Amino acid sequence: MVANTFAKKDYINALDEIENQQFQLLQRKAKFLQNELTKTSSQINDFEIDSLNDLTHDSSFKNNKKHNQNSLKLNFDTKIISIKHLVLFASFVFFSIMTPFLINTYFLHDDIVADAVVLESPMKTKFLIENLRGDTIDTVKSWRILDGDALNVNLINGDILTSEQHNAVLKVINSTDSILIDDHIINRGPPGSESIYFLGWAGAMEEAAKTDTAYTVPTTFNIFQSENGEGQIIINFSNLIDTDGFTGYTKSVIQDGEILKSYITIYDVDNLDASELATIVRHEFGHALGLGHSTDPEDLMAPTILTEFPYISECNVDAMRVLYNGHESGMAVCKK
Ligand SMILES: [Zn+2]
Repeated sequence: MVANTFAKKDYINALDEIENQQFQLLQRKAKFLQNELTKTSSQINDFEIDSLNDLTHDSSFKNNKKHNQNSLKLNFDTKIISIKHLVLFASFVFFSIMTPFLINTYFLHDDIVADAVVLESPMKTKFLIENLRGDTIDTVKSWRILDGDALNVNLINGDILTSEQHNAVLKVINSTDSILIDDHIINRGPPGSESIYFLGWAGAMEEAAKTDTAYTVPTTFNIFQSENGEGQIIINFSNLIDTDGFTGYTKSVIQDGEILKSYITIYDVDNLDASELATIVRHEFGHALGLGHSTDPEDLMAPTILTEFPYISECNVDAMRVLYNGHESGMAVCKK
């Protein structure tokens, strides 16, 4: 954070300096332009005086010649001045257009610095398996339950849900339904190849549990509704609007490396339709079970949910296998 603050300060100073230099340059150019304009007007005055002289004297070849020479000279100067004006005008336009780009370049650079700080966070170790896509999902911490144990899920303020919303939430947690989606549609493979997506975490976790892991993968969830804080996963439904614009939020209590309790808050419930609510709960429940965010913008676990298919992917299931096999505070890599 400290390094980042210094970097920001440096960039702001650099920006100020560039602005000052550009301002001075434009001032000098404006002065030059003014001088050129003064010269032009005096030349025009001379030419008018010459023309008047021509009128008051008898027209002669010599005078005409002089007049013509003056006209030529004036035209020539005018042309030069026009080109100068064009160049000055073009420079002005160029600088006007370039200034925001220069500023953006600095801000983008700033973002890279900020990202570098995040990547160096001691919370993350790199556990990588080579793959095609290279997207990763952070694996944070796991639950330590005994074989056959269920996790208790308390829906606090479940009363504010419509029956449609309520059913959608139950499905997100307890459904074992899955769908097949053509990989080509979501740019994950050639036409004809398909991937399985789970609609509920029970189905996804059952799939993950098919492989032996160091810790028991939770596959059963007891859902109940109580206004006190009992339960291991608490989902609090709220009509408050988060000031930072978050739609959902998950915070887990971790002790000696294991999750003891996870608190999910879902904001602005009245303004979510059942499928939007399902998507947000599906994402947050992934956090409650121990996953972090995915680097794949099309993934359910992306920090901002953008995908048209917000279901639990094979990659999410793999990440659960990696996590419950003891690779905590790490990353799992998506195979497609
Ligand atoms: Zn998230």
